Amino acid sequence: MEIPRYVVFGPRAVREISKVCSALGLGRKVVIVCGGEKTTKIAEEEVRPYLEEENYDIVVFPIGPGYPTVEKILKIEERIRVLKRDFVLAVGGGRTIDAAKLAATWAGIPYISVPTSAANDGISSPAISFLLRMDVKEKLGEGKSRAKAPIAIVADTDIISRAPPETVAAGCGDMLAKFVAVRDWRLAYKLRGEDFSEYAASVALMSAELIVKKAEYIKKGLEESTRLLVKALIGSGVAISIAGSTRPASGSEHLFSHALDLLSRKYGFKPAPHGMQCGVGAIMMMWLHGGDWMTIKETLKKVGAPTNAEELGIEPKYIIEALTIAHKIRPERYTILGEKGLSREAAIRMAKETEVI
Ligand code: ZN
Repeated sequence: MEIPRYVVFGPRAVREISKVCSALGLGRKVVIVCGGEKTTKIAEEEVRPYLEEENYDIVVFPIGPGYPTVEKILKIEERIRVLKRDFVLAVGGGRTIDAAKLAATWAGIPYISVPTSAANDGISSPAISFLLRMDVKEKLGEGKSRAKAPIAIVADTDIISRAPPETVAAGCGDMLAKFVAVRDWRLAYKLRGEDFSEYAASVALMSAELIVKKAEYIKKGLEESTRLLVKALIGSGVAISIAGSTRPASGSEHLFSHALDLLSRKYGFKPAPHGMQCGVGAIMMMWLHGGDWMTIKETLKKVGAPTNAEELGIEPKYIIEALTIAHKIRPERYTILGEKGLSREAAIRMAKETEVI
């Protein structure tokens, strides 16, 4: 198991950053990887001073706007090696943390996750986004596409509360996906003899339950809501670490989201945030499992997340195509979609019955 050794979260958690670094004995040379203008400002003004106070040798590397390319991540790795950095602080949203976790893993040094938004469980797990993983596999090979879990997570809920409200909706969608993911995992255990960890599954489900129970209180921009969501996302990341696979966090609903990402490249439309796509996928896949899909749908509504194609901003024809190709995305990952997947007719009927289209 590779689990974060320190998890500090709550208001002003970032003040603890140098304490965490020294408790871990990480050395003095740090590179702060941040994203665009906003997170660079947070890194410079709200994180750096606490390290400067303790005389850390600091280099800041902003990756800029847009999704990080493999070339850019290789550049970060090179900087880490040339400047002999001891560890990485990843300050930003999912894409920044993805870049930092790969660069740190390739360079063989640990990284601390300092999320500035809570849109998915990548902030607390070794997992990276689907398209980035595909690009890395294609350019550098399968081995390079696997990243390490963060050695620590410092989630400052004051900072995260300032993130755009859609990130909260997306984070909740990524959490509700766990209900389906665990069912798919259990199915693979029963039908395919896959390893199954009751403990990892329970941690993922417990974290997802938090969102259902407290959906009424998840109001955008409230520090308490952020804390709840971050707690759930950390739980999911830990479940992934315990399982040694993304199984407890990602099933057929994630395959549907990955399929949409692929199609967005093929046809040139804009995909919705990962967590939002997974949330809508979870409604449909739970319907397929014969489970309580209405609760997933109602919870998504309560937290202001999309529940249909229109709210996702994706044309129904792409939703249907994604449903019919989802089972091919990761053939080794057995889910309710089976080996043959959904026929077009079945996909249309399911999407209509669940009012996704
Ligand atoms: Zn996810």
